Amino acid sequence: MSSCQQCGACCAAYRVDFSVHELMSEGGPVPDGLALAFTGSLARMRGTDHSPPRCAALSGRIGKRVGCGIYEWRPGPCHELEEGSDACQRARARHGLLPLPN
Ligand code: SF4
Ligand code: SF4
Repeated sequence: MSSCQQCGACCAAYRVDFSVHELMSEGGPVPDGLALAFTGSLARMRGTDHSPPRCAALSGRIGKRVGCGIYEWRPGPCHELEEGSDACQRARARHGLLPLPN
């Protein structure tokens, strides 16, 4: 099983902003209901600018078992954040999780 399924820290650590062209209403994959369009060109996953942040698409318990409700339709930044990257390790640290081994 991928470490991500037992983690979810990065889905509750960063703002997730992406081009409005990734929204379903614009022909992209991301369901509009889970995002807010906050400028003419950018959208943001709901919940990711809350304090503390937590993406509205995330279910489960961080560090235990989690799932992304729109995994196949998630926006670009979610594809780009790689398991084991600096951003991944920072998010894990923020949630008190051990770093992934290199
Ligand atoms: S913080 Fe890293 S291990 Fe955790 S879900 Fe994100 S990419 Fe996966
Ligand atoms: S859309 Fe899915 S992968 Fe992206 S931050 Fe939200 S829960 Fe995580």
